[in-house]
Amino acid sequence: MSKIIQVKDKKFAVSIPEEKIQAEVKRVAAAINRDYAGQEPVFLAVLNGSFVFAADLMREIDIPCEISFVRLASYQGMGTTGEIREIMGLNVDVTGRPVIIVEDIVDTGLTMAHMLDTLKKHNPSSIDICTLLLKPGKLQVSLDVRYCCMEIPNDFIVGYGLDYDGYGRNTKDIYTLCD
Ligand code: 5GP
Repeated sequence: MSKIIQVKDKKFAVSIPEEKIQAEVKRVAAAINRDYAGQEPVFLAVLNGSFVFAADLMREIDIPCEISFVRLASYQGMGTTGEIREIMGLNVDVTGRPVIIVEDIVDTGLTMAHMLDTLKKHNPSSIDICTLLLKPGKLQVSLDVRYCCMEIPNDFIVGYGLDYDGYGRNTKDIYTLCD
């Protein structure tokens, strides 16, 4: 019988157990170690959701690297009607350096598309996306996701850093919303 947890008013069932997550994180980290050998990448982990994934991933990375935890902020620019996005917390100079974005989940892909646009203005030498999860069925933009631990169906998930209304981040397994 699958493990069920309650997060606020909703029930969730285990869909990806801890062992599977850890194996996939190790697989992706090994690929990064191989592909980035001789380079010194800067990892940019997007808060809040990626903090657990980033912590596990980084401990499997054995090449020289830096990490910075960033947040995507949106605000209305003075005198414009358009939404402006900025990367908050980018306290590493990425100019001329390879950057690996660490994301919890790519859903429509719009967040990552905005992040790529904004990051390019900081002139890194390259940008790769590394995501824990990807919902291929929800993708709305063409996005080159070089590193992906797992592809999942279009269901809502929590756990391992991902939240439901701020709760449920503190689990080792990943859970899917019950019908
Ligand atoms: P996108 O811009 O790709 O549509 O959305 C990305 C963001 O939406 C993720 O960083 C995450 O915060 C949130 N998100 C998308 N799907 C889920 C989900 O199934 N569960 C949770 N907890 N957050 C999700």
